[in-house]
Amino acid sequence: MIVVKVGGSAGIDYDAVCADIAARWKTGERLILVHGGSGETNRVAEALGHPPKFVTSPSGYTSRFTDRQTLEIFEMVYCGKMNKGIVERLQRLGVNAVGLSGLDGRIFEGKHKDSVRAVENGKVKVLRGDHTGTVERVNTHLIDLLLAGGYMPVLTPPASSYDGVAINVDGDRAAAALAVALKADALLLLSNVPGLLRAYPDESSLIREIPAADVETYLEFAQDRMKKKVLGAAEAVQGGVRRVIFGDARHGQPVSAALDGQGTVVS
Ligand code: ADP
Repeated sequence: MIVVKVGGSAGIDYDAVCADIAARWKTGERLILVHGGSGETNRVAEALGHPPKFVTSPSGYTSRFTDRQTLEIFEMVYCGKMNKGIVERLQRLGVNAVGLSGLDGRIFEGKHKDSVRAVENGKVKVLRGDHTGTVERVNTHLIDLLLAGGYMPVLTPPASSYDGVAINVDGDRAAAALAVALKADALLLLSNVPGLLRAYPDESSLIREIPAADVETYLEFAQDRMKKKVLGAAEAVQGGVRRVIFGDARHGQPVSAALDGQGTVVS
């Protein structure tokens, strides 16, 4: 079992990712796809006159402030345009894909965080009305049913809170939790960079290998959203996933290349 997370940033070649996944699926390999959609969500939010608001926590993590209206736009793009675009590609390639969010069947569950501490102009403020959280539990029953029936699950945030409220969660860490819950052999975190770069954005500074025990020490090389990927990788290997690979989804055969060790391999 392989969990593939593909991001939502500019430059990602979804046709290439889906073609590679479909070819592998047809040989009998079992894969689950988790995807993002942040780039498109930002564009749609601007177009709808509700531009995205990103906040930085006192410890330096950036996240999207998700009020109710933002959550609805987020769902339109992630569960609608992005999810159905990927399912359609896979269906055209002959894979019987089923697209679901973490709300459906409560696949991804976690605590609802209503307020967030954010640094604004050097001061820490508390912002309320946030619909965010972190995946703490993965309910695999529905996934098992789909796989047993020959369907490929295509999953996306949001998750469900324990009270059934939709919460925006980080896709990389959700994919990590899923890989742990399914005892996956590998977790691939595919994005628009060759892997973790020692000196971002210099692509020749690719870090090729990270020993599993040291992964958190590599947080220092990751800026902004890359930090969540490093954190997700740490959670996955600590949870028993043997290999996590940060790979390039811009061209070629992104899944096969990552499984061949191109990118940053955490093991
Ligand atoms: P996605 O939406 O594809 O999951 P993100 O945009 O969340 O991806 O994270 C990937 C981005 O992280 C890259 O496009 C890059 O701009 C940024 N980044 C920051 N630091 C690094 C680093 N050290 N190595 C690689 N990418 C980095």
